[in-house]
Amino acid sequence: SLETFLEYIEAAQMDEDLEIAQPQHPNSVKLMTIHQAKGLEFDIVFVPGLSRQIFPDTKVTSNPYARKSELPYHIREDSDYLPSFESVMSRFREALKERAMEEERRLGYVALTRARKKLFLSCAHWYGEERSTSAGPGEFFAELAGKEPTEEDPGCPPHPAVTLRTNSPRPDENPLRDELELRAAGWPPSDKVEPDDLFTGGWRAALVEARRDPDSIEKQVAAAGIDRPEWDASRGEVAEQLALVTTPAPPAPIDERLKSLSVSNMVQLARCPKQFYWTVVRPLPRRPSRAARLGNDIHRWIEISSIGQQKLDDPEEPPDLAPEEVGDRPGRSLPTEESLKKAFMDSRFAEKRPRYIEQPFVISLEAGYLVRGRIDAVYVEGEEWELVDYKTGMQPAEDDEIAKLQLAIYALAAERIWGLDPSKIKVTYFYLKSGNTVTTAAEDLTFTEKDLLAMFEQVEARIFDPVPTQICGSCDFLRFCDAGRAFVAAQSSEPQ
Ligand code: SF4
Repeated sequence: SLETFLEYIEAAQMDEDLEIAQPQHPNSVKLMTIHQAKGLEFDIVFVPGLSRQIFPDTKVTSNPYARKSELPYHIREDSDYLPSFESVMSRFREALKERAMEEERRLGYVALTRARKKLFLSCAHWYGEERSTSAGPGEFFAELAGKEPTEEDPGCPPHPAVTLRTNSPRPDENPLRDELELRAAGWPPSDKVEPDDLFTGGWRAALVEARRDPDSIEKQVAAAGIDRPEWDASRGEVAEQLALVTTPAPPAPIDERLKSLSVSNMVQLARCPKQFYWTVVRPLPRRPSRAARLGNDIHRWIEISSIGQQKLDDPEEPPDLAPEEVGDRPGRSLPTEESLKKAFMDSRFAEKRPRYIEQPFVISLEAGYLVRGRIDAVYVEGEEWELVDYKTGMQPAEDDEIAKLQLAIYALAAERIWGLDPSKIKVTYFYLKSGNTVTTAAEDLTFTEKDLLAMFEQVEARIFDPVPTQICGSCDFLRFCDAGRAFVAAQSSEPQ
């Protein structure tokens, strides 16, 4: 209730370590850290503290050469993404700062994309009672609100979507120091409620009275003789903001990005629409994945082994990897690159020369929808065409129909690109980990163009319900996905 919220704010002012409350009622104010807000959205979001050294804060706290408790970077799993020390400490510190800034920017992106309708960003000039230098706007705030050019910085104009409001002058002295003295002077605190112009008996008594008699506030305003137009104007502003919360959001405009999806996106959508949502629609930062890196490296290696070089077109375009191939499952080790290469060299594909390798394609569907992808290898023998996809992940269960979606899209692409009759096409998954191949005749695949169209319609209808399965264990979003967490908990409590 409003009363408990105000009580909370009052208590929070007294005790900065107060545990963050998470009211569960949907129509309530939620206070949370940016990390806690990951995956959540609200009509109105306030992000305070966008001041220098507060947010972003690029203070380096994890220099392994300055703190013994830090794990040396070269033995860390994510060492490829960390700065390396090359004998000059000042340069290394600079690189650490840049990395800290990147992390803060990622976090800033999460904070700023939580708002559905309105986003309020604020920064104060002074923070903390002890400081003798003011904070001023931090880099993110300045980038949005605009900044004057200086000798070191060319400056920038305010972002067109931003309305800037400055609420008070910037005092040269820290005004919070007096606050400390005032608090110290008022010790021990008295229970007496400080009256103000409007609530002469204190706001708490006014609130209790207003609950008993809803007209009491109006009566107090009339009795106080305050400037009625000014009071009405500020009340109108609050009412406008409250109306935003209760007005249903207008239908979201169709996002053009979502009209063109990769094969990996399609498989992800079929596996878990919620994971697709957090990857494609409202993307959240993801952990670097060793499994995805291994998948990419092996695909490049096979490409070079098969035709003697890597294709020159868009070498950065990643291969189509399904969700089960890109997630790192805690506690499960990955196969070594050598074992996967050996599996390829021992297979029937090692001796063959593919007609096409990493063949890119775009399938255009009704209403302008596009599906794009790459077929790992295409082998042709006589009239028979075999489309092969190399898999570095686990082999799915035989009755896993979604596993066939990728191959169905490839078969459709082959029909479109080369005008092939489906009876002449077979599609193969080659599981490098086990050395198994699973081949299916294109005619036996049940996914059709209609199914692909239905998936795009699902995206436009914004139906992104979670579908928990085995992939939850390696899903980057598990931490804040209730359905996924419940599934994983149920799995781990099942007798093995
Ligand atoms: S944890 Fe599971 S249910 Fe949740 S988004 Fe990830 S894959 Fe989907």
